[in-house]
Amino acid sequence: MTTAALAGKAVIVTGASRGIGKALALGLARAGARIGIAARSEADLAQTAREIEALGAECVALTLDVTDGAAVGAAFAQFAERLGGLDALVNNAGVEQVCASLDVEEAVWDRIVDTNLKAPFFCAQAAARLMLKRGAPGAIVNIGSIASQFGIPTAVPYCASKHGVLGLTRALATEWAPLGLRVNAIGPGYFRTAMTDAFYEAPGWQAAMLPKIPAGRFGELDDLVGAAVFLCGDGARYVNGQILYVDGGLGAAL
Ligand code: NDP
Repeated sequence: MTTAALAGKAVIVTGASRGIGKALALGLARAGARIGIAARSEADLAQTAREIEALGAECVALTLDVTDGAAVGAAFAQFAERLGGLDALVNNAGVEQVCASLDVEEAVWDRIVDTNLKAPFFCAQAAARLMLKRGAPGAIVNIGSIASQFGIPTAVPYCASKHGVLGLTRALATEWAPLGLRVNAIGPGYFRTAMTDAFYEAPGWQAAMLPKIPAGRFGELDDLVGAAVFLCGDGARYVNGQILYVDGGLGAAL
């Protein structure tokens, strides 16, 4: 008999009301984890929770704005209490707003960088404090992007934030490895979600992008699950400070 890869583990996924975060939360639940999910949209979050529970998995859903540091601390403490511990965090919540750099206003920069970079740091800090309090090892998985590696025009705050996520990952990994915590990242290529739908709808975008992807197709949300299960689980116990690109070979080919 095989044991589910994440049996007995409690994992928080931020931004699990839709898109990649929802797919990861469901995939981690299928791998045996108890799941805490957070996002701002209460109804969508409740729907994710229902789908997780329909798999027979335990789920705690809390509405949360990850840019509110005090609220993050309180929510994560509640997750750990209600899930009976905390073994992993998937820092997935993120935003993007396409804008020519000459027109980017400070509020746009702040919203993107606060959500994509500052919030993952303070979520990681809140999770690490809880993991260390229990004396248990823990794993943090940050969702980066191919934009952690490449510059993309009209996406400067986003690229800066996602390059920052890679720096955050590497620096925390070096600082926290001696404490028994691992910090890694996943770098998705192109996946169709609310965030990217406008690209897919733009005339010519798919036809121009597809030939650049060696796999010959765009990503499907479940393509990301294996990487998240691996990085959250004990199979990755000696993997630290890495980014695993899940992009159909796009980054290797660019
Ligand atoms: P979506 O827009 O579909 O989902 C974003 C999620 O983040 C939602 O659940 C949203 O929930 C949540 N979120 C946004 N802001 C906040 C906030 N302040 N507090 C709490 N939750 C928040 O995007 P994707 O699923 O595509 O993106 C998920 C992650 O993957 C992001 O980090 C993104 O940068 C990254 N990524 C996506 C790629 C793609 O091709 N789609 C490629 C590379 C990386 P709510 O609005 O309910 O709060």
